[in-house]
Amino acid sequence: MIKRLSLLLIAVLLIAVIADARSSQWSRVRNAYIAEHNECAACGRTSDLQIHHIRPFNKFPELELDTGNLITLCVSGCNCHLSIGHGGNFKYYNENVVEDCKYFRRLVENRLPNRGEQ
Ligand SMILES: [Zn+2]
Ligand SMILES: [Zn+2]
Repeated sequence: MIKRLSLLLIAVLLIAVIADARSSQWSRVRNAYIAEHNECAACGRTSDLQIHHIRPFNKFPELELDTGNLITLCVSGCNCHLSIGHGGNFKYYNENVVEDCKYFRRLVENRLPNRGEQ
């Protein structure tokens, strides 16, 4: 029982260490970025936002805190983070995310009502 508990404790500590692999600066950079870029770059949503790394953190760790590598995307409604940032699967990333967000933004801005008086 004690052995099991200590194994659990080690696992919890390991998870904490892995989670901390992100820079200690990340939450500060993230909060400053989202304060300035407070809408989804694709659909314009202003709630349920996440900061996406244009070039993914695990492949380009040196770009983790580079604000030129960040873009704000939503995680509900259109879920642009999953669809446009990752092509529908978080195992992948979209290297054209910036252009595709601009394209989608144009679609949203130019959409027409399909109900009621026109
Ligand atoms: Zn969105
Ligand atoms: Zn992402």
